[in-house]
Amino acid sequence: MNWPAWPPPLDDAQRKLVNDVLESGLWGATQGGDVVARLTAAFAARSGVPYGVAVGNATLGLFAALKGLGVRPGDEVVVPAYTFVASATSVLLAGAVPVIADVDPVHLHLSPEAVSAALSPRTAAIMPVHLAGSPAPMDELNALAARHGLAVVEDAAQAHGATYRDRPVGGLGDAGVYSFQASKAMTAGEGGLITCREESVHEAVWSVCNVGRGLCGAWYGHPNVGWNLRLTEIQAALLLPWLDRLDDEIDRRNAFCDALDLDGLPVERVPRPEGTTRDSRHLLMLRLDPSVDKARVLGSPVFDGGYPALGSMPALVEAGARVTDCPAAEEAARSVVWIRQNILMADPGRACEISENLNTVLAET
Ligand SMILES: *Cc1c(COP(=O)(O)O)cnc(C)c1O
Repeated sequence: MNWPAWPPPLDDAQRKLVNDVLESGLWGATQGGDVVARLTAAFAARSGVPYGVAVGNATLGLFAALKGLGVRPGDEVVVPAYTFVASATSVLLAGAVPVIADVDPVHLHLSPEAVSAALSPRTAAIMPVHLAGSPAPMDELNALAARHGLAVVEDAAQAHGATYRDRPVGGLGDAGVYSFQASKAMTAGEGGLITCREESVHEAVWSVCNVGRGLCGAWYGHPNVGWNLRLTEIQAALLLPWLDRLDDEIDRRNAFCDALDLDGLPVERVPRPEGTTRDSRHLLMLRLDPSVDKARVLGSPVFDGGYPALGSMPALVEAGARVTDCPAAEEAARSVVWIRQNILMADPGRACEISENLNTVLAET
């Protein structure tokens, strides 16, 4: 089976812009080129907020967003138990304590009830993850955060172009963070971008990512402690033209998912939270019937085994993460498999190959 490669082939607009940047010699973000600035503005606009800061990757972006929102060493940040490890390690990078809370057993997004139960006097922020391209239940999570005075950092690393109640992700919390790492829906090999609504948050995040400079301050004046976390112009030149085709690619992945017929198979789609108006389909998550041996399904290269529960990772616990009881995440680790986005980019007419494949691996003895 020959599925589309990821990333998709370069298009002419990318070729031209990358070449222009290469020829200009303005490769870094501090040399006067404008591609990073245009990318940042375009992403902020698409997220429905005025500000953005481009960074080297989303792990650093989450770290910078937490710092910019005032999370301090020793503070606690609640993260979901079923996500990529960087949601928790970015908290550690800020010197704070990741508190691993369970996900909803049905849709697998951060559960507001589990967050409530995990709060302590040290809780400073929560980090909903827009898992697989489907938005987290932000109304409930934002309401909870408002009640307790907590900052909300959206981990939108997997959700470029997704909307919740018709509003784009990345503009629903105090800050949103996208990833452009090689496996994501838009990629420059590596990269990330932070979006935010408040001017003061933008100033603080920008400073964290720009060696502690002030936005309008002297070049060698460093009113804050910060780091060089910048994206290059070359990376931005791969990403800016991609925005023009992102929506088509999302439609394509949705068409493939819609064409997938799972009738009669011991598997169901993981449902999305209420309020999802556009799933960007980074992954399609499927839940296997308890009677099915997951290892057998993973014998097919079409299926990916997904995440272990974060609380089961000894390194996180040793580094100081606080783990709460997470039966739903553990169940997801046992029973959920993924179909990756490169496969979802195939012609929807090929969706039947997925069910045939599943039938084949289940029939093997
Ligand atoms: C990929 C990913 C990250 C980290 O992104 P990088 O750009 O690789 O640092 C964080 N959170 C989630 C949910 C991700 O999928």
